[in-house]
Amino acid sequence: MSESTNHPPIARSWAEPYKIKMVELLHMTTRDQRERAITEAGFNTFLLPSKDIYIDLLTDSGTSAMSDRQWAGMMLGDEAYAGSRNFFHLEEAVRQAYGYRHIIPTHQGRGAEHLLSQLCIHSGDVVPGNMYFTTTKHHQELAGGRFADVIIDEAHDSQSDHPFKGNIDLDKLSRLINEVGADKIPYLSLETNVNMAGGQPCSLENIRATCDLCHQHSIAVFLDATRAVENAFFIKQRERGCENLSIPDILSQICACTDGCTMSAKKDSLVNIGGFLALNDDELADKARNLVVVYEGLHTYGGMAGRDMEALAIGIGESVQEDHIRARIGQVEYLGEKLINAGVPVVRPIGGHGVFIDAARFLPELPREQFPAQALAAALYVESGVRAMERGAVSAGRDTETGKNIFPALELVRLTIPRRVYTQAHMDVVIESILQLHSEPERIVGVEMTYEPKYLRFFQARFNPVVGDVVLRGSATPEYMTAAPTSR
Ligand SMILES: *Cc1c(COP(=O)(O)O)cnc(C)c1O
Repeated sequence: MSESTNHPPIARSWAEPYKIKMVELLHMTTRDQRERAITEAGFNTFLLPSKDIYIDLLTDSGTSAMSDRQWAGMMLGDEAYAGSRNFFHLEEAVRQAYGYRHIIPTHQGRGAEHLLSQLCIHSGDVVPGNMYFTTTKHHQELAGGRFADVIIDEAHDSQSDHPFKGNIDLDKLSRLINEVGADKIPYLSLETNVNMAGGQPCSLENIRATCDLCHQHSIAVFLDATRAVENAFFIKQRERGCENLSIPDILSQICACTDGCTMSAKKDSLVNIGGFLALNDDELADKARNLVVVYEGLHTYGGMAGRDMEALAIGIGESVQEDHIRARIGQVEYLGEKLINAGVPVVRPIGGHGVFIDAARFLPELPREQFPAQALAAALYVESGVRAMERGAVSAGRDTETGKNIFPALELVRLTIPRRVYTQAHMDVVIESILQLHSEPERIVGVEMTYEPKYLRFFQARFNPVVGDVVLRGSATPEYMTAAPTSR
């Protein structure tokens, strides 16, 4: 045997399966400007104007770059009020990739959640799911229901290396069914690649077992298919027996045992706006087509322009291509692994759509009441113009019965990666900025909430920094905002 055959195989890069045809110039800011901007924004990164952001990792929602083919599709928009040809193309694309019979377009994911919740949930009902999602839970509550978390315990432990932290705990689900009765459970909401758990997948085996259990009790299962393609990629990587299945095959199998889905096309599907409700049941689909007219638009556009439906139909086809999804998740893993190797506490394993910093561990001195994740996201912006977002106590809101702040097990800062937008060099800038903050956590002070909106408060809440017992008001900035940074 020659010597060379003993060498380990050369690692293959996740490098992008596309090249850049057009660029968007970014506005570079000084630290002074960023200090002013975050103060004006009430220390909430959601309230920063995008012109003041260098690298925007607020969300992967609607922030993807469309391909030249999608842009060409925009020119084929058929803006007929009824029966647009783009609708039929979209219907065909969804049927082919996801497999459901009826497709009702909506302006985005929450439009579909609204329709499903209004149609299926009655006052006093309980809707189990694998960890909550903000808009999903809110629509369930508005319809008179209560959300019940039945995700496995590992999902709440940022350091657990469980490969499928999105899985449903079948014992918890059985117990809930016995407790409240199957007739009080209109459906189970099954989220793929669970967002709030850090983009963590469900296994195909668990999805099937969950559907079996629910269907035995005549409980429907509706998928939150927002990141089902990313989930399919993890199944191929991690689930025994699935290595040789194609991404489209796995996606079809995920959907096949469920009764329909809500979809925010702004994530997996590579478009800036759009969504749909998909259903197999004829009668329920009729009702949904009836209701969509009230809230979204006619059932052949549901709040989307014809051109947007065309871009979505093309985007769905591109989203299930193996080269695309490997590079997408490869870029997220690149960022996550560099942070892990440098000792930054992040949720493990690295999720599909972003890297989630464990802010409670990053800033162990800050009490939870001072919202460490909110404070860290603000500090990261001031450090380098990188915009992240809080996913912790601010996002979790208040208990609907007691009115008290909910302090979830996970207090996270989410670095969400838009699809096909940033380069490896951008990821390196993000890594350097976080390492800088990690080396001097004492410069980061907590915040207190000074304005709290009633619904989904994380979007518009405002904060003031807290230094010890002294709360600095108005234009005053805490020491970390003004201290000269060591490296830039
Ligand atoms: C984004 C999202 C939604 C809501 O979709 P919108 O398009 O933002 O209305 C629902 N579920 C999950 C898991 C999401 O990430």
